[in-house]
Amino acid sequence: MSTSTAQIGVTGLAVMGSNLARNFARNGFAVAVHNRTASKTEALVSEFGHEGTFVAAASAKEFVDALERPRRLVIMVKAGDPTDAVIREFAPLLEEGDVIIDGGNAHFEDTRRRERELREQGIHFVGVGISGGEEGALLGPSIMPGGSKESYESLGPLLEKIAAKAADGTPCTSHVGPDGAGHFVKMVHNGIEYADMQLIAEAYHLLRAVAGYSPAQIADTFRTWNRGRLDSYLIEITAEVLAHTDAATGRPFVDVVADAAEQKGTGRWTVQIALDLGVPVSGIAEAVFARSVSGHADLREAARGLGGPEPTALAPAEAEAFAARVEEALYASKIVAYTQGFHQIRAGSQEYGWDVDLGAMASLWRGGCIIRAAFLDRILAAYDAEPGLVSLLADADFAAEIGAAQDGWRSVIATAVTQGVPVPAFSASLAYYDALRAERLPAALTQGQRDFFGAHTYRRTDREGSFHTLWSGDR
Ligand code: NAP
Repeated sequence: MSTSTAQIGVTGLAVMGSNLARNFARNGFAVAVHNRTASKTEALVSEFGHEGTFVAAASAKEFVDALERPRRLVIMVKAGDPTDAVIREFAPLLEEGDVIIDGGNAHFEDTRRRERELREQGIHFVGVGISGGEEGALLGPSIMPGGSKESYESLGPLLEKIAAKAADGTPCTSHVGPDGAGHFVKMVHNGIEYADMQLIAEAYHLLRAVAGYSPAQIADTFRTWNRGRLDSYLIEITAEVLAHTDAATGRPFVDVVADAAEQKGTGRWTVQIALDLGVPVSGIAEAVFARSVSGHADLREAARGLGGPEPTALAPAEAEAFAARVEEALYASKIVAYTQGFHQIRAGSQEYGWDVDLGAMASLWRGGCIIRAAFLDRILAAYDAEPGLVSLLADADFAAEIGAAQDGWRSVIATAVTQGVPVPAFSASLAYYDALRAERLPAALTQGQRDFFGAHTYRRTDREGSFHTLWSGDR
């Protein structure tokens, strides 16, 4: 078939690609579909062909020929080498002005490289971050497209149609910035997601071990929180998971799941890049490390006999007040996680000259994605009020809220420490807050040590310039 009728094409028809293709078709676009293993293409069309107009392509040439010009083709294959292999296969068949869209979870540096290489051939390469998992891909994901402005003019209207819509009807997509900006923002989204999930896990741990609540009671607590300022997809599904009973054993589902968290790598990338950019994302880093600690069965086994307090449950009369303080700790730590994530986007934008609109990023995460939350409206409002905001903590409303929550935040962490419950992300978030607001930090001593052993010099508080002290002693 080579009728050049499809407005968009999708190659790579595993769960994400299939659902994205169906989303385009359901929204009235004619979609060319292609997969390395052709049987998947046929299966998609025979099962879902009634949902819209699909053009099944058995070969790369058929696929490219089926697309109207300038061509828009979405690659939804396994990230990494397979993406390069598919680009190598398709690029020679394309013409100047065509647009290749990579919707996989690519590293933004790969996207920068691919964009550069394809630009030389006159082909637009658009790295697109897509969040929302398979359901989002079908029903409306949050979409973070990078690439040239020109490519967004061709692609944007289609993405705006298939994207999730925020409660006010705004599509959860907009042009993020040139080359790798979209994948960078998606990476930070995932880093924030790691932090959000870890913070929720710590809240659960405290409610279980210190408040003495059952999983069902904690599910109820999360449902209540979901009606307040913590209203979010992750809190909502946490309640569902905690309320779930394992069919095989009749026990709470959470008690039969092995307690070793896995990861695919985007959280790790966030932290690696944050280190390169010199951005303190301590809450996100602790979330990545917490998964890592949980997965080290050998270390945990070797540590079984180490001494320390065993948590004792509070009396029921005190548990409710404690739970209210855990909500404060969770909310305050969440503000810190987003503060750190937005700092990283700002730093990346400056480093690579992307000019990312931070308020627009808060806006496009309001629907479709895993971290969607009522809270993002607040972040959007903060950047609307002050687009050049250095830090979310500099916003008067967030500063007031975190200030009001901090007594509970501190007391929960103190309780966790004395009861021996690990709360790495809560603690790191509070330490970040306290470090930023401190009049003086012990970094002055660190500078003194560096000058002592390595003549690294230091700056002074009372004079401009760089100084070195001639330290006495035989060194
Ligand atoms: P996947 O398991 O990551 O990839 C499977 C697809 O890649 C199949 O269509 C497979 O074709 C194709 N493929 C693999 N190697 C290939 C090669 N060398 N040449 C051509 N095709 C190749 O599928 P997925 O879970 O649907 O994810 C697709 C992309 O979306 C990934 O980059 C993923 O990271 C990203 N993503 C996933 C999610 C999610 O929730 N799953 C969310 C956002 C983004 P065959 O059928 O021929 O093997």
